[in-house]
Amino acid sequence: MRIFDPHIHMTSRTTDDYERMAAAGVRALVEPAFWLGQPRTSAASFVDYFDSLIGWEPFRAGQFGVRHFATIALNPKEANDPRCRPVLDLLPRYLDKDAVVAVGEIGYDSMTPEEDEAFAAQLALAVAYDLPALVHTPHRDKARGCERTLAVVAESGIDAGRVVVDHLNEVTVKLVRDSGCWLGFSIYPDTKMTPERMVELLREYGPERMLVNSAADWGRSDPLLTRATGEAMLLAGFSDDDVDRVLWRNPVEFYGQSGRLDLSDLDVAEKVDPQTGNSILRGGS
Ligand SMILES: [Zn+2]
Repeated sequence: MRIFDPHIHMTSRTTDDYERMAAAGVRALVEPAFWLGQPRTSAASFVDYFDSLIGWEPFRAGQFGVRHFATIALNPKEANDPRCRPVLDLLPRYLDKDAVVAVGEIGYDSMTPEEDEAFAAQLALAVAYDLPALVHTPHRDKARGCERTLAVVAESGIDAGRVVVDHLNEVTVKLVRDSGCWLGFSIYPDTKMTPERMVELLREYGPERMLVNSAADWGRSDPLLTRATGEAMLLAGFSDDDVDRVLWRNPVEFYGQSGRLDLSDLDVAEKVDPQTGNSILRGGS
């Protein structure tokens, strides 16, 4: 099983996680810029963070044979902090980098006027830099948050096919599907969305434009839940090809729209031991 995790915060994970992910079949991932768990006190703090997302983290991932890409943005939560807003002026410098495959995470946290403004400004940047956008939806008041998100996306003029609306569930899936945007699902250990619930959604709505991620960060989360979802799909009767589409080809197609998703020297064919027929899982570099 080859896996592309389209949303995971490796900065807050250990080297052991990279090792386990590589062994489970994760060969590429996208790490979106987000907040640190405590407030940043100046825009300069983002500079070091963004630099690590396009420098140190890809290096760390590369030691385990995992390809690392990033999305860059002012996150919804910190869009409310006047100390952080000047970072909007620094974003263009990063949106030019080859390791950056989208603008994100943008969107709503508490749906304030400040978030409105930062969201619209960053969708405009995605259009200007010809990049896809990764849009976070609030965990509270999901349906209303999602409706408003889709309205702002439509107003921005960005092509819906270049937007993924993330953290969806049974309540919001249909809204987003009808909008033409891509659908992101973050799988959590025991809340919000589980592998089994994800399988039900795939059964009902099919694999088209569906992205499955672990969204693992410093909170309770599990970077192997992409793999667990693939296994749950197989158990439920989905084919290897369906699993490959959802866990590999879909994220490659979505982020490939950046024109920067270079996977050329990554060995992505499933290696099978001729003796045992078992797949040879790649760890190490
Ligand atoms: Zn996230």
